[in-house]
Amino acid sequence: MTITGLALIGGVGERGNDGFFKAYDPAALAPLEPCFHMVDAAQIDRACELAGAAFDQFRNTSDEQRALFLDTIAEQIIGIGDALIERAMLESGLPRARLEGERGRTVGQLRLFAGLLREGSWRDVRIDSALPDRVPPRPDMRMRLIGIGPVAVFAASNFPLAFSVAGGDTASAFAAGCPVVLKAHSAHPGTSELVARAVVRALEICGLPAGVFALLTGTGNGIGQALVAHPAIQAVGFTGSRSGGQALMAVAAARPQPIPVYAEMSSINPVFLLPRALEQRGEEIGAGFAASLTMGVGQFCTNPGLVLAVDGAPFERFCSSAAAALGASQAATMLTPGIAASYQRGVALLAAHQSVATLAQAGHAEGKGGAALFRTSGAAFLAQHELHGEVFGPASLLVACKDATEMCQVAECLEGQLTATIQMDDGDIDQARRLLTTLERKVGRILVNGFPTGVEVSTAMVHGGPFPATSDGRSTSVGTGAINRFLRPVCYQNMPQALLPESLRDPNPAGIWRRRDGALGKE
Ligand code: NAP
Repeated sequence: MTITGLALIGGVGERGNDGFFKAYDPAALAPLEPCFHMVDAAQIDRACELAGAAFDQFRNTSDEQRALFLDTIAEQIIGIGDALIERAMLESGLPRARLEGERGRTVGQLRLFAGLLREGSWRDVRIDSALPDRVPPRPDMRMRLIGIGPVAVFAASNFPLAFSVAGGDTASAFAAGCPVVLKAHSAHPGTSELVARAVVRALEICGLPAGVFALLTGTGNGIGQALVAHPAIQAVGFTGSRSGGQALMAVAAARPQPIPVYAEMSSINPVFLLPRALEQRGEEIGAGFAASLTMGVGQFCTNPGLVLAVDGAPFERFCSSAAAALGASQAATMLTPGIAASYQRGVALLAAHQSVATLAQAGHAEGKGGAALFRTSGAAFLAQHELHGEVFGPASLLVACKDATEMCQVAECLEGQLTATIQMDDGDIDQARRLLTTLERKVGRILVNGFPTGVEVSTAMVHGGPFPATSDGRSTSVGTGAINRFLRPVCYQNMPQALLPESLRDPNPAGIWRRRDGALGKE
């Protein structure tokens, strides 16, 4: 079945009467703002209907076909060349080197998922052979994972490439065999459209139905809410604010058929400075922390927004080193005026708080964020919940605990986090072990002697964590594990070989990993 329909909905460029974009001309991006088209309710509906209609054909493509599709998207993104980087620089304020790195990460993760499809174990195939002589007899049972259905993906403001149109959520949904209806972030519409066109070209090259992908552009909560409420949509991937994520969770839960929402929202990423490490390397850790905090103007979900240590001279040395580095830093342009204003409000609230002292504050300017460092006591942090919230940007709160027990109490009172970091030396192992028991319950990724910014895209990565870090702490949105969000298991009982999907039949010509009668193998 070939489905024709809207490949892109909303955006710049020439649009024909049938709704397709007819041609792409980079020059058309120059007068960007006035050209943008806001989707209306009928177009959202059409994009979702087309995604629903494309699902069976797409999920029944071979793993190799979808791997080729992912590889082709990567090639097409590279093929856009410098126009993509320049457009993203203009729209995000992020520097060239960061965006070139992010493009590398984006194509790298598309290829990583292509590799996962070719390797085959993602289907988690299990075969329990029939036991006809058992009392009662056991039927033949075979299980595999299949795509959940069309996925609504919300692009993030802070990764215009790697968490956006062809970012991790889209790559993992496509790998799972799920069409994607993508809500572009209004902070980078031109970048979104360039990448969307690369995805559409890849669909055409691979002969896949147009309904596999649609881009929705426009601002206003109505677009996202209509998208999540649409009956064809079966799951949601979101990265953004806690309020936005929770609003979409409420919409998904109120549907006649509720659906899962995988929202990555809010995390302050505590860094624990243990005594021996602080004594040996306090100044060095302070400088490393300042670099991590200000990277990308602090606009990373893994930004170290909270630091805990036992009060004393080594902690003072850390504070001086970090404050000196941050005080000398320059304010820089943030992703959107809204994010800058929200950051400046958050910093002002902390600066005015009666239990908080300001250690460093680089000046702000309109649309810019300057680094800020604050300090409070363990007792004040434990008593005052308003100190626990995320201030999205280069701001961090240092908490001086009276002893190791109070540090553990602070760890225990934290909300769910994407990451926690322990700076430690050999002599700190007992305290680290004590903290670890708590952190395993609170956090998706626990690091030793590093900084949380810089998220590797790999097989073992967990970029997730209990609420409010994410809406579902059983998942990761980075790395190959992200595919599991968009899969569900189906068991085939006593099914004739001819009806079984190829991965479940007795011969295993593709040699994929299968668990047969409990034993993992490729037979
Ligand atoms: P956002 O305001 O949550 O927006 C993200 C996306 O969700 C946008 O497409 C937005 O649509 C949509 N949206 C927001 N609220 C909605 C609602 N109530 N109903 C339906 N759709 C909704 O996030 P942002 O613009 O990226 O930044 C705002 C704040 O989010 C930051 O200041 C920061 O606190 C946080 N943030 C956190 C992370 C993280 O990884 N933890 C990353 C980025 C941002 P529109 O097009 O209408 O805006």
